[in-house]
Amino acid sequence: MQMGSENNNAKYNQGDQPALTEPGSILLVDDNPVNLQILYKTLQGAGYRLYLAKDGASALAMAREIKPTLILLDILMPDIDGYKVCEILKQDPHTRGISVIFLSALGDSAAKVKGFAVGGVDYISKPFQTDEVLARVRNHIKIHLLEEQLARRNLELELENVQILNAVSDGIIGLDSDGCISILNPSAAAITGWQASECINKPLSLLCLFNTDEHHSVAEEHTIPYRSYRLRQSCHSDMELIRCKDGELISVSITATPRPEGGAVVVLRDISSWLESEESLRYTREELELQRQHMAHMERLNTSGEMAAGIAHEVNQPLTAIANYSGVVRRLLDAKPIDKLKIAELLDKLSNQSRRASDVIQRLRSYVKKPNAGQNAIDINVLLQDVIALAEVDARINDVGVHFQAEHNIPPVIVDAVQIQQVALNLIRNAMESMTDQHSRQQGVLVSARYDDNVVFVEVMDSGNGVEEKNRSELFSPFFTTKVGGMGVGLSICQSIIHAHGGNIAYRNNASESGSTFYFSLPSTRLQ
Ligand code: ADP
Repeated sequence: MQMGSENNNAKYNQGDQPALTEPGSILLVDDNPVNLQILYKTLQGAGYRLYLAKDGASALAMAREIKPTLILLDILMPDIDGYKVCEILKQDPHTRGISVIFLSALGDSAAKVKGFAVGGVDYISKPFQTDEVLARVRNHIKIHLLEEQLARRNLELELENVQILNAVSDGIIGLDSDGCISILNPSAAAITGWQASECINKPLSLLCLFNTDEHHSVAEEHTIPYRSYRLRQSCHSDMELIRCKDGELISVSITATPRPEGGAVVVLRDISSWLESEESLRYTREELELQRQHMAHMERLNTSGEMAAGIAHEVNQPLTAIANYSGVVRRLLDAKPIDKLKIAELLDKLSNQSRRASDVIQRLRSYVKKPNAGQNAIDINVLLQDVIALAEVDARINDVGVHFQAEHNIPPVIVDAVQIQQVALNLIRNAMESMTDQHSRQQGVLVSARYDDNVVFVEVMDSGNGVEEKNRSELFSPFFTTKVGGMGVGLSICQSIIHAHGGNIAYRNNASESGSTFYFSLPSTRLQ
C-alpha cells in the first residue's frame, strides 16, 4: 500500500465504503395503493420520515436520491419485482447500505430464503400486523444506525493505522498467509526501493530481497518472513543483507511476527548509517591508540637521548680496557718464551669486556625499538632485572643504589614488555631524581614485585623529597613538572600504558620514612 500522497490501497479508499443514509427515513414500496396506505398509517406518527413509491423503477430512483435508512419492499410488482429492486440496490455503492425488508403475502420459506439471498434483512408477511411492523422497523432502524456507527469507527481506525504506518521510520511489510504483500509503508518503500503499487497482492519472494548472492538464489523456506507467515514463528536478526530493487545491498535488522489472523508483519530497519558510525568509531579508537604508542615511543627516544652521555661513558670503559688488553697481548706475543696461559687469560678478559659493551648497547636498542603490537607472557621479575640493568648507568652517575626485592612464583603477565619496561624505568629514574641529598642516596631505590589475588603489583620506593601536597592532584596530568628542564609527560604516558594493559598506577607517600612509593598493577594470567 502506498499511502500518503499516493494512496493506492483499495482497503483504505473511502469511495468503497457504503454511502451514509438519511437517518430515520423509510421508503414504502407497494403497487397496491391500499397496502401503501395501511403501511403509511401504521408508521405515521412513529417519528420517521416516510416516502412512498408504487413500482420498482420509481423505488430505485427515489432510493438513489434520498438514500433512506430502510425500504419496506413489496415482492410481487409488475415490471421490476422486489427481488430485482433489491439486487440492483445492493450492486450500487450509493444504495448498498440501505436495509431492505421484504413484504409479501407469499408464505413459503423458499420466497423468504430468496429474499435473504438477494440482500434483504427481514421479511414481513401480509396482511400486516401493526405491532409487528412497528417492532421490526424499530429494530432494523436501530441495527442500521449501529452498523453505520461501527463502519464509521472502523474507517477512522483504519485511517489512524494508515497515519501511524506513514509516520514510523521503520519499514513495515504486511504479509497474508500465502506470503503476498498486503501492506508496504513508505519507509519500507524507501528502504527497498519498491513502490507499494508494484507489490501489493504480489508474493514477497518476487522482490528477491534475500538473493544477496548474484549466482545463487536463496530458497524462500530459508528466509525470515517465510518462517513467520508460514511456520508461525517470531524471528529476529540484528543484521541481515537485503538486495534493493536497484540491486544495491544494504544492511538491515529484521523482525518478523506472525499475525493472529494469519500472515505476518515484517519490520525492517536500515542500519547502514549506524554501521558506518561504528566503523568510524573503531577507526578513531585505532588512530588514538597509534598516537598513544607514537607518543610513548618519542618519550622513550627522549629518555634514551638523556641516557646517551652516561652510556657513552659506560661503553667507553670496556673499549679502553679492550684497547689496553690487546696492547698487552701484542707485547706478550713478541716475548720469548710465549706465555700462553697469560695470553689465554687476557683473551678471556677481552671477550668479557666486549660482551659488557655489547650488553649495554643491546639493552638500549631493545628499549628504543617500537613496541610489539602483540603481547606476550612475561616473567615480571626478569623484566624488572633488565630494567634495573638499563638504569645502572644513571644509578652510577647519580650515585644511587637500585635494589631489587623479588617474590617467587609470581604468575606471568600478558604485556608488551617494552612498554612495561618504559613504565618501570620512568618510575626508577624519577625516584633517583627525587633523592637530592647524600643520606637518601645511600638508602637508594627499592624495586619490588608481588602477587596478590590475581594481580601483580610493582612498587618503586624512594627516600627522596616526596610529593608536595599542592602537586598531588596534578602528578599524572600531561606536561606537569616541577623539574627545571623537565617535560612532564613521563607519568601521564605511564598511566596510559598501564590503563591500556587493564591495570592501575598510583603513588603514596611513605608512612614511616621520607620519600614516596609509586606503584602499578597488572592483571595476571594464573587461573583460580
Ligand atoms: P618529569 O620527570 O619530566 O617532571 P614526570 O611526568 O615523570 O615528568 O613527573 C612529573 C612530576 O611528578 C615531577 O616533576 C615531580 O614533581 C613528580 N614526581 C614524579 N616522581 C616523583 C618521586 N618519585 N618523588 C617525588 N616527586 C615525583
